[in-house]
Amino acid sequence: MSRLAVRLAVAAVAVALALAALAVPARWQSPPRALAQDGSVTWEWLGWSHFRFTSTTGKVILINPFVQNPDSPVKVEDIAKADLILPADGHRDEVGSTVDIAKRTGARTFQPFELGTWLIEQGVPQQQVVRSNPGGRLRMESIIVRMVGSVHGSGLPQPTPTTPYGGPAAGFVISFENGWTVYFAGSTGATQDQALWAEMYKPHMAILPMNGDREPLDFAMQVRLLKTNNPNLSMVIPHHHRAAPQPGQTTVAEVQAAIDAMDLGLSVTAPELGRVYSFGMAGK
Ligand SMILES: [Zn+2]
Repeated sequence: MSRLAVRLAVAAVAVALALAALAVPARWQSPPRALAQDGSVTWEWLGWSHFRFTSTTGKVILINPFVQNPDSPVKVEDIAKADLILPADGHRDEVGSTVDIAKRTGARTFQPFELGTWLIEQGVPQQQVVRSNPGGRLRMESIIVRMVGSVHGSGLPQPTPTTPYGGPAAGFVISFENGWTVYFAGSTGATQDQALWAEMYKPHMAILPMNGDREPLDFAMQVRLLKTNNPNLSMVIPHHHRAAPQPGQTTVAEVQAAIDAMDLGLSVTAPELGRVYSFGMAGK
């Protein structure tokens, strides 16, 4: 081969590789988790209401690990490490693979009492299951997780005679080692209690439900309540939605319009699937 032919061949291979890279599904392009180099907390949206946080010391916290959701960039076997799982209520799309992941990783679970009893009945070792109620707290080294209420149901996928219902539905407020605090609302509707939690815990970030038929005004009112005596709130993320909403489903544009109509001065960030966000990168 002449030099030119070699160069052309090399260029052709490079183009082919670049095209192949584009064709690789997103799930293989994103690292399963990331420990930030600068001591910040990282988080990922893994579709629906499944979030993965990695603390500054590498503790992995999963919220609502519904890995079967149609947008999930990971499979259950991709989740090799978890230290704590927070299922917000007993619904199938919120408990998700909590049982499998807890058994495989040895992660503790923190949830309303009756839902915890049900997880034990499903085979999660009892010593991993921390059963609590709104107002309860779990400490993991210097991370603090508080359970708060949620105006929502908690029916179980397979009710048992001893545990026919999952107890109250929950939300969570997590404060990480660096003080950064996130409020995960669960599937709640707007409730005055959110003003209380805002004042008490002053979250920097709020993750609020935006399911298909969510009233945009409900979403916006939650944001307003969460600003009560809370100067920290600077990032608002929706959950419980498809990566590409179907026609007629509530959109980020609609909830943003409702927020703007209240003059709240906050913009909603639509999370990108599998992207690793770092506290300080995309918000405060
Ligand atoms: Zn639910």
